[in-house]
Amino acid sequence: MGMKTEPCPVPECDLPVDVVIKSSDDKFFGTHAVNLAVFSHAFPPASLASSYPASTDDPVCLTETGDVVELLLRCMHNQRQPDLLSPRSKVLIALAEAVEKYLVYPAMEICRLHMNRLADIYPKEVFAYAVKHGYPELLDQTAPLTLTWDAKEACEELSPTNFAVWVLYREGWLRVQRELRSLKLPAIEHKGGRMECDHWDRFHAQLLNLGLQGLTKWHARFSDLLGDVRCGWCYQRALTLRPMLEALITEYVKPASELERSVRSGDVTQCVE
Ligand SMILES: [Zn+2]
Ligand SMILES: [Zn+2]
Repeated sequence: MGMKTEPCPVPECDLPVDVVIKSSDDKFFGTHAVNLAVFSHAFPPASLASSYPASTDDPVCLTETGDVVELLLRCMHNQRQPDLLSPRSKVLIALAEAVEKYLVYPAMEICRLHMNRLADIYPKEVFAYAVKHGYPELLDQTAPLTLTWDAKEACEELSPTNFAVWVLYREGWLRVQRELRSLKLPAIEHKGGRMECDHWDRFHAQLLNLGLQGLTKWHARFSDLLGDVRCGWCYQRALTLRPMLEALITEYVKPASELERSVRSGDVTQCVE
């Protein structure tokens, strides 16, 4: 029988390989039971470590791809840690998930910082990670960027509890959007007794068309729209809308991290009035 073993992915490592790991895409990696035990608290039983030398005939199978497994194993060495700026973002996101899943404590914080770096580019993935593993700041940072997420897709990506957090968060903004549409602002009489004005109509239509994502950036967007109102009366009228919109947001939009705590504690009454 050709018992085949695999080298450890850390070139300068001279520890004996007594575990062989197989990735989801059928790549093999040699590693060390002692490292798995020291650097991880939840690795598939290091006790499964076959006798030395480990063989590819009896690997520990992981659900992560080879790219991710390699980085994961390199994180579990008392060596210089791998470069995490170069890997593709998808690999990094999967690595961040893996270090949480296998409780590789020494790598969690650096992965969190990289997820922070990716938050604006991959808000949904980072949101899913933050809500699952309890990173409230990252959760609040990404939540406003996830509002266009298709609900069915979100449901597939999040656990039922975390999906509830997302739905409640989005519901707050939907409520603001609905209430904004039904706000009635007294018209301002223009010079000559005219009540209607194109400037107002344009401003109002653009405000209502901001969409959920636009509403989350309402401070900047409102100022932009206001800057385009070239009629003094309508400008005044538009100004009165700002505190009203702000009040709606304060009333209906709760930070995602707050909703997360409420949902987890089973006290959803605080989430919705
Ligand atoms: Zn090694
Ligand atoms: Zn006007």
